[in-house]
Amino acid sequence: MIIASNFKTNHTRQSTCAYLDTLQQFTEKSGSRQDILVFPPATALDRFSVASNIRVGVQNAYPVDKGSFTGEIGLEQIDEFGLRTILIGHSERRHIFGETQALCAKKYDYFKSKGFEIVYCIGEPEEVRKAGIDAVVDYNLEQLEGIDLSYEKLIVAYEPVWAIGTGLSASVAQIDETHRRLRETIKAPLLYGGSVKPETTKEILEIENCDGVLVGTASWNVDNFCRMIEIADSL
Ligand code: PEP
Repeated sequence: MIIASNFKTNHTRQSTCAYLDTLQQFTEKSGSRQDILVFPPATALDRFSVASNIRVGVQNAYPVDKGSFTGEIGLEQIDEFGLRTILIGHSERRHIFGETQALCAKKYDYFKSKGFEIVYCIGEPEEVRKAGIDAVVDYNLEQLEGIDLSYEKLIVAYEPVWAIGTGLSASVAQIDETHRRLRETIKAPLLYGGSVKPETTKEILEIENCDGVLVGTASWNVDNFCRMIEIADSL
């Protein structure tokens, strides 16, 4: 399974190093079989020496080698650390920073052309969820416009906007139904994200079409994140 942590705007260079050290020691000791992804903030990126099943990625980047894009990082800055995993389309990028579907697709094409592993996020706002499952599926499929779903290094994360950072996870029944419907179109690994906690990890990972979790808040504490990996190992 894929167990991923999105630090968002949390952790420093120093605390990221300490986090990855603890994570590395935990996976060595436990012999974890999970695919573990960690997305620290850009200021904390480095060439980390971690096991091959732990991959560090970038939360965001502009689709250029380098250039005049103040505040952004491009391929040259990522290359310095040899990183090849990126998060694209996170709801905070779409809703807080106004990233359009066209920009998400442009980023996707660019980083695909560079051979990146891409965690591509989709998810509906609350009013769409209230309109029922067909509206939810239509909305999520629209967020796949311009995205090559046959790309072999694609991972999709279904993250309902109303569940992200709110402490209110989608229910097992909602995730199950949504993933089952999305699975008709998406053959890539399909993660769930949205207020996942150690206590809810088992029931979510047991959902048939759920290949892992993308976790924000609960994963910022490394012991919590290790517990989630341990739960995945126990299944
Ligand atoms: C996320 O940022 O992708 C996320 C799922 O956050 P949280 O776990 O805090 O809801």
